[in-house]
Amino acid sequence: MGWTEERVATLRKLWAEGLSASQIAKQLGGVTRNAVIGKVHRLGLAGRATPSRPAKRPVRTARPRIVGPTAPRLRMPSSLPSVVIPDLEPIRFEDGRAATVLTLNESMCKYPIGDPTDPAFAFCGRGSANGPYCADHARLAYQPSQAKKRRTAAPDELRRMLRLSAM
Ligand SMILES: [Zn+2]
Repeated sequence: MGWTEERVATLRKLWAEGLSASQIAKQLGGVTRNAVIGKVHRLGLAGRATPSRPAKRPVRTARPRIVGPTAPRLRMPSSLPSVVIPDLEPIRFEDGRAATVLTLNESMCKYPIGDPTDPAFAFCGRGSANGPYCADHARLAYQPSQAKKRRTAAPDELRRMLRLSAM
């Protein structure tokens, strides 16, 4: 049975008189107590003997962040030098000359080798896979900044990690 205007008016009246939902349902006939309660809510007739509203949702709290070692565990070779500085010679072209400012191109490692005032000064010249440097020089060039970011690691352990992660 639907909610005709007449029935809604009756509902409003009985509700205002303080009848319970089940009493109203009985008077109206053809509806359940729940239907009356639902209609009362939809009509906005709150503030009386309304059934308890569902409890407010608990406030979502931020989950605690799990802080822990995230780096994959690496097997450490027993003997590793604590400082890794590849001693690389500049690459020589076929004519025996090393890469200079003039011959250096985008795909070559731009790591300077030697004293800039020395005529023998040259650039590494190896293929630069990632960024301006070859793998070895990138490791050298970026090591200090990475070390700053990972202050928690002991210096020796850090160097080993960096060395291994670059392999
Ligand atoms: Zn290089």
